[in-house]
Amino acid sequence: MAPIRKPTLAVYKFSSCDGCQLSLLNMEDELLELAENVEIAFFLEARRRIQPGPYDIGLVEGSISTRGEIDRIKEIKQDCRVLIALGTCATSGGVQALRNFGDLESFTQSVYPHPEYIHALPSSSPINEHVQVDIELWGCPVSKNQVLEVIAGQLHMRRPILPGYSVCLECKRRGNTCVIVASGSSCLGPITRAGCGAICPSVNRGCYGCFGPLQEAEIDAMIPVLKATEQYAGEAINLLRTISGNAPEFREAVETLLGAEEI
Ligand code: SF4
Ligand code: SF4
Repeated sequence: MAPIRKPTLAVYKFSSCDGCQLSLLNMEDELLELAENVEIAFFLEARRRIQPGPYDIGLVEGSISTRGEIDRIKEIKQDCRVLIALGTCATSGGVQALRNFGDLESFTQSVYPHPEYIHALPSSSPINEHVQVDIELWGCPVSKNQVLEVIAGQLHMRRPILPGYSVCLECKRRGNTCVIVASGSSCLGPITRAGCGAICPSVNRGCYGCFGPLQEAEIDAMIPVLKATEQYAGEAINLLRTISGNAPEFREAVETLLGAEEI
């Protein structure tokens, strides 16, 4: 009897810090079991051997920040049966999308001694702006449990079960004292999707939304709270424009805040 073919997995990197790929490598207990169930066919950060595509599952880390990346993601899309955007760079543009609210040329001139060597697009964009994405996993970095759940879903041909609630719920489960109530600090927990286990409020710091906007969240209702808890003028806008700032829901909230300032 011919051996059963394992599904193949490819991991790709675009503009990013590599943190989400490292989250995969940090799955110390689960990585061997994963390798028993899927063939890790392309993962440059983990192994030198490359199996040619097409692949069953493609995990894409990073945002589209250069012209070459636009062409490459289109080729990768052709090579993967299921394409999964991995982490907040891939789902919204990431922290490098801060340039979307400024001017790339002035940034490169301030930072680099030879800005003429930088060939970047004026904005950083998520993968789904360029090709159709099957599943999006937010987080900076992603939660390893969510990655495993998504891969298990593929192996068992079912939809992944991902939390549809906010960071606040995880925060309450941990028994944290709310930083908004206790110290009047800003926190995006009520409008941010769960997944991290409420890391920041657990060390007495407000959430800055790195798992992206919760789909069903009443962001408009949160705006007055964000304004009321500002420690300095403009803090609410800066908070919304941090890691997930290019997400449409957070962009819209910033527009509302800017509109209110103009009145
Ligand atoms: S600290 Fe933040 S995440 Fe925790 S309950 Fe308060 S608002 Fe929600
Ligand atoms: S609490 Fe918020 S900012 Fe901190 S890791 Fe979780 S989602 Fe990210």
